[in-house]
Amino acid sequence: MAYSINDDCISCGACEPECPVQAIYEGDEHTLIDPEKCVECKGHFDEPQCVSVCPVDAIHLLV
Ligand code: SF4
Ligand code: SF4
Repeated sequence: MAYSINDDCISCGACEPECPVQAIYEGDEHTLIDPEKCVECKGHFDEPQCVSVCPVDAIHLLV
């Protein structure tokens, strides 16, 4: 599984530098997460770093 950014994203850029595997990038509409790269921060941090820093709660687990 992976985390995903929804349309609530305001492209503030806060999450991008926090990702330990560089899975976050700027998409056409807003910032996006590459589901092939996201490791849910496992092995790096206890909490998903992008979720922790997002000011608008736009990042959720993709199911
Ligand atoms: S959960 Fe972690 S690995 Fe996945 S996109 Fe967010 S910061 Fe990157
Ligand atoms: S921290 Fe949240 S609002 Fe900011 S770019 Fe990332 S997903 Fe978008």
